[in-house]
Amino acid sequence: MPAKLRFHGAAREVTGSMHLIELNGRSVALDCGLNQGRRAEANAKNKSFPRDPAKIDAVILSHAHIDHCGKLPRLVKEGFSGPVYGTPATCDLAAVLLDDSAKIQVEDAEYWNKKRVKRGDDPIEPLYTHEDVEATVRLFRKRDLNMEFEVIPGLRASLHEAGHMLGSSTVSVTIDNGTAGPTRIVYTGDIGRRGLDILRDPAPLPPCDYLICESTYGGRDTSPPEDMTDEFAEIINDTMQRGGKLIIPAFAVGRTQVLVYKYHVMLLEGKIPHHYPLIVDSPLALRATEVFKNHPEVFDREASAFNSLTGDMLRCKHDEYIEDVEQSKALHKRNEPMVILSTSGMCEVGRILHHLKNNVENYKNTILIVGYQAAHTLGRRIVEKQKQIKIFGEMYDLKARVKVLTGFSAHANAAELIEATQPLVGHVKKVFLIHGEVDQQDALAARMREAGFKDVVIPEANQSFELNGANP
Ligand SMILES: [Zn+2]
Repeated sequence: MPAKLRFHGAAREVTGSMHLIELNGRSVALDCGLNQGRRAEANAKNKSFPRDPAKIDAVILSHAHIDHCGKLPRLVKEGFSGPVYGTPATCDLAAVLLDDSAKIQVEDAEYWNKKRVKRGDDPIEPLYTHEDVEATVRLFRKRDLNMEFEVIPGLRASLHEAGHMLGSSTVSVTIDNGTAGPTRIVYTGDIGRRGLDILRDPAPLPPCDYLICESTYGGRDTSPPEDMTDEFAEIINDTMQRGGKLIIPAFAVGRTQVLVYKYHVMLLEGKIPHHYPLIVDSPLALRATEVFKNHPEVFDREASAFNSLTGDMLRCKHDEYIEDVEQSKALHKRNEPMVILSTSGMCEVGRILHHLKNNVENYKNTILIVGYQAAHTLGRRIVEKQKQIKIFGEMYDLKARVKVLTGFSAHANAAELIEATQPLVGHVKKVFLIHGEVDQQDALAARMREAGFKDVVIPEANQSFELNGANP
């Protein structure tokens, strides 16, 4: 029987990555990500799987971002008990992120249950709890990059550097069930970029017959990563010299560590002539930073050298990592210039809201946006420089300066995606585009066809395809 590929999540959307390879009645999932977005819709998707979880044999994780691993504890809660493969750094980071996600799920259910009880409705269960995460983490099996391992009989896999976040990988799968020759599938995961801080550059995509390719920025050209240092230093110096605070909403895992590293490098290079406090106000960032420190094996050459030189590249002289809520509140009483990194990255929830509330009305301050801000988020309204913004139900005048640096993006842009996939033209039978909004996917499909790929499809959710062996 030919193998089949079934697309479940991140089909014509960005979140909820999960794809299934079916072979001789068995199945292996590539990622098992959380769906984010409109609440009711995401909730329903987060409880649905492409087949009975007890009958899925194994999961291979490309990386630890929550839209790639965040549904695993639910899979386990519903009966999955197979191995979950990932690189050592991915397994360690996923453990931290899933634990944080369980906390959010439990708090969310408590919040809604208060309202439901008042209405006389039955309480809802959280999607998963801390115990489900513990059971999930016990299933993790660490696999080093570039080492092939057997997943189920007839299906082997290997992980290759994706250069997108700590531990991130591209997954290469070889199916050999004895009938036709081997069939090779490459799942890009999220593709990073050359020149990103801390991370090694993405490895060339392994040769394959079928390519499952992300398309987040399939139609967009973002600035190159190396452009950012001078602009970042200028924004810091300018704000500090005005006696202001620089507020940076940033994702706790990945972006925060890159910014701390960059700040540290700029201090030592003299690009920031005076030492100002650098505050990292996020307990999750603190735990993720510990995972970074435990995995120097995945740092690039510059970061390794800097780490050896300084003893700890993520710890500089004037940084303060804040865990406690009271310490966080105490920051509002401090008037000296400082840089504050806090979550969430899109300003929807978390401590960043308090920092914004206390600082947006002061023209001396700057808000620096370094990540993608989805439509309808507070982050997007700040990017649009709306005159007034609503925080905790109250309107505030946006008088602080707003700066945007897009070069910190860890996703390959359109040109980089073409460059990464181009060597596979003429070898790949079919390209499946996933993990993108439809306009980005259409744009990338057109560019890939132009580049010479003959068969590029954009699968729908739950669509499946037969894999007919290798190219003749
Ligand atoms: Zn990612």
